[in-house]
Amino acid sequence: MNKTSNIFVISAPSGGGKTSLVNGLLEQVDNLRLSISYTTRDKREGEEHGKNYYFVKEDEFKRMQSESKFIEDAEVFGNYYGTAKEKVTKLLDEGIDVVLEIDWQGAKQIKENFPEALLIFVLPPGLDTLKQRLESRAKDDSQTIQRRLSQATHEISNYKLFDYLVVNDDFNECLGQIISIVNATRLKRSRRELDLRDLLKKLIP
Ligand code: 5GP
Repeated sequence: MNKTSNIFVISAPSGGGKTSLVNGLLEQVDNLRLSISYTTRDKREGEEHGKNYYFVKEDEFKRMQSESKFIEDAEVFGNYYGTAKEKVTKLLDEGIDVVLEIDWQGAKQIKENFPEALLIFVLPPGLDTLKQRLESRAKDDSQTIQRRLSQATHEISNYKLFDYLVVNDDFNECLGQIISIVNATRLKRSRRELDLRDLLKKLIP
């Protein structure tokens, strides 16, 4: 991992608005890329292979898993999800920051493997709001929505793993807070010493 690049993990329960927040973040902050995960789940309407996910069959996923191709992987709602090591390390080596939009199990593994990674958890303002958001996006049947709601409480109960908590009540305010976290991380001494070495040399002759 390049000394100046960062991994930002963004997690939220399903319907927490994380995808819109990540899209807003990528639009407003440069030198930041989203890692596209592998998944065995079925493609939803409007989703594209290589854009939303790499949609693969379970045997391919298992093969990648056994060949240690993932820096983290987890089973969520009966499907497998994983982050490809090769793609992430390439970006980090190029000095590009990477955003991982993954669940808490993945976040935990990332923190273990990359202790410098910044973990951000997006809380919904209430369970009722979460339910409304899941229903209005109309992508899942009612049984799935119910399952996702009960999973939400479990997901949220792992909030202590995370470095930052933001509440997605007002979208712009929440996005602004996430941008502040990214900007503040980029100003950390450990990330700046390298590119400021000439200035520091001049200032401390
Ligand atoms: P969905 O199927 O609704 O796109 O995602 C379901 C859950 O899986 C979300 O919480 C999402 O963040 C998580 N997820 C997506 N990609 C990954 C991944 O690569 N690793 C892990 N651990 N979770 C992921």
